[in-house]
Amino acid sequence: SSDLVHRSSYERTFVGGKIPLGLKRKGLRILVTGGAGFVGSHLVDRLIERGDSVIVVDNFFTGRKENVMHHYGNPNFEMIRHDVVEPILLEVDQIYHLACPASPVHYKFNPVKTIKTNVVGTLNMLGLAKRVGARFLLTSTSEVYGDPLQHPQVETYWGNVNPIGVRSCYDEGKRTAETLTMDYHRGANLEVRIARIFNTYGPRMCIDDGRVVSNFVAQALRKEPMTVYGDGKQTRSFQYVSDLVEGLMRLMEGEHVGPFNLGNPGEFTMLELAKVVQDTIDPNAKIEFRPNTEDDPHKRKPDISRAKEQLGWEPKIPLRQGLPLMVNDFRTRIFGDHGSSEP
Ligand code: NAD
Ligand code: UDP
Ligand code: UDP
Repeated sequence: SSDLVHRSSYERTFVGGKIPLGLKRKGLRILVTGGAGFVGSHLVDRLIERGDSVIVVDNFFTGRKENVMHHYGNPNFEMIRHDVVEPILLEVDQIYHLACPASPVHYKFNPVKTIKTNVVGTLNMLGLAKRVGARFLLTSTSEVYGDPLQHPQVETYWGNVNPIGVRSCYDEGKRTAETLTMDYHRGANLEVRIARIFNTYGPRMCIDDGRVVSNFVAQALRKEPMTVYGDGKQTRSFQYVSDLVEGLMRLMEGEHVGPFNLGNPGEFTMLELAKVVQDTIDPNAKIEFRPNTEDDPHKRKPDISRAKEQLGWEPKIPLRQGLPLMVNDFRTRIFGDHGSSEP
């Protein structure tokens, strides 16, 4: 059955009625690295809901216990504080490898650590996957396309990346992580999946993580001016987190390695984004221009034909529908439980 295909070699040794009493279970054992973070915690919710056993490995660099605390006490949930740069022994059927800071402010904070996380951390998780025969999914990024010369970006595009710039620790790190993943696939016959994630937003993002959606929303709620970097004409395409999680799960369960772009093709300039935030939170919210950061990609928009065709996936939630869901969460976290009334 297709169910068997998804079982690891560790599990298959028990197939044929030899599962020791007490070890029999329905769901899969799934490792989510970075599971206390923004995307990871939403993925964990869905996996637990589906009946799987989930182990989260996270060093809490940018993740928070609050994101997963509602699962504490659930026997199907386990939280391990661990840095993926160090080896670890676990027995699982699938690995969703998300551990890595995602906001430019965070990944530039200690660039060497970011590279180690992407290279050594990914190597360790691939080594683990190989040892137990688990299926491995890498969360790569649209940043592998760099400042793209092709628009929209298709998976076959090799990108335009500065190897010695301030963003390189992240985009070159993820490119190496993709290389390692493919080399384990070819060399060790590992089952792998690669997702290239485009800008994603939603509840549980770090309030002050410096990413544009979290910045604008927090600023508008606090009646501070929204900081637009550069001329504000650079573009991004914003995906709501539940659409991404659905895509990641379809990718893991499907038959295709990828890489797959997972993103919402709705493209906005930063000035247009500021307008959506004004319409959603406060029409009087001010805009303040700031110098842009180095090597900022001018435009970004996913071509998602491959994911549509091979995974039957496409995002469902446009920005104007998803943003209010995030705003509610930010309001509560910034102003407390009574934040739904005007501050
Ligand atoms: P996040 O910062 O909220 O989550 C990352 C998690 O990884 C955090 O919980 C952090 O504590 C943990 N972590 C970081 N370094 C670690 C280490 N060395 N060992 C163990 N844990 C570690 O970011 P996110 O937005 O949830 O991103 C999750 C993944 O998706 C990342 O790999 C990121 O590169 C990728 N991605 C995200 C986006 C996006 O827009 N959110 C876009 C492209 C790619
Ligand atoms: N590794 C790990 N957990 C495991 C198996 C391996 O953390 O269960 C690490 C291991 O320490 C090594 C990396 O993964 O640093 C790559 O392992 P692999 O077996 O592929 O390579 P090797 O150990 O032969 O270099
Ligand atoms: N940006 C901005 N104001 C902010 C934060 C970011 O105008 O307060 C811009 C940034 O220069 C970039 C875009 O928003 O062009 C997206 O930045 P973010 O850090 O969210 O993600 P990136 O796609 O660059 O990784």
